[in-house]
Amino acid sequence: MSEINEKISKTFLSVKETLLLRNKNEDSVKIIAVSKKKSKELISEAYSCGIKNFGENYLQEALEKKESLKGKEIIWHFIGSIQSNKCKEIAENFDWVHTVDRIKTARLLSKYCPKDKTINILIQINIDCEESKSGVLEEDLMDLAKEIDSLNNLILKGIMVIPKNDTSEGLLKNSFNKTFLLSKKLQSKLIDADEISMGMTNDYKLAIESGSTMIRIGTGIFGERN
Ligand SMILES: *Cc1c(COP(=O)(O)O)cnc(C)c1O
Repeated sequence: MSEINEKISKTFLSVKETLLLRNKNEDSVKIIAVSKKKSKELISEAYSCGIKNFGENYLQEALEKKESLKGKEIIWHFIGSIQSNKCKEIAENFDWVHTVDRIKTARLLSKYCPKDKTINILIQINIDCEESKSGVLEEDLMDLAKEIDSLNNLILKGIMVIPKNDTSEGLLKNSFNKTFLLSKKLQSKLIDADEISMGMTNDYKLAIESGSTMIRIGTGIFGERN
């Protein structure tokens, strides 16, 4: 078995086990393989092992790989920070955008979304109020959600977080729990916005236990990045 194949099997198994232990449905969590800085060959290999969702952070790099992987039924997720001048190409090329945190970005994605498609949107929340991180503050979530909900071609699907790294398991759990409650609050107004993109290689089990519906796994599938 190839290294990637082995890593993917392990990840599938461990996600399944975590879900079963929590009495959750086996398909209640989507695995997104984060392929930034990884080649199209590696993406292709992961695809043939059953991964359908791929996440990319850097537009130019993503577009080159996407072009060479045309024909595969890949669902592309944009998970990097968004500059306004990139919104057109992001709108044209991605099925999901996890990192919307300003109405300006949402309006541009809506404006440039091709007529025959819709884009699934997640609002990034700066859950630990870090200076260095993108994301809306929790008190601004509902206003942004309402505005996005009114835009054409966009479907508000839920929220995304990247908690503080190198923190204790206790604090991480607090951040995940806070995110879960914010998701419930959002769903009380927008019932279908029930996705929670949270959890990466080092913390996805805890994230799943805390209610995550989408985990973003890079290292755990492709190995270390250079
Ligand atoms: C790189 C990245 C990931 C994957 O991180 P790993 O620790 O390698 O799993 C997930 N989410 C975002 C937003 C990233 O930029």
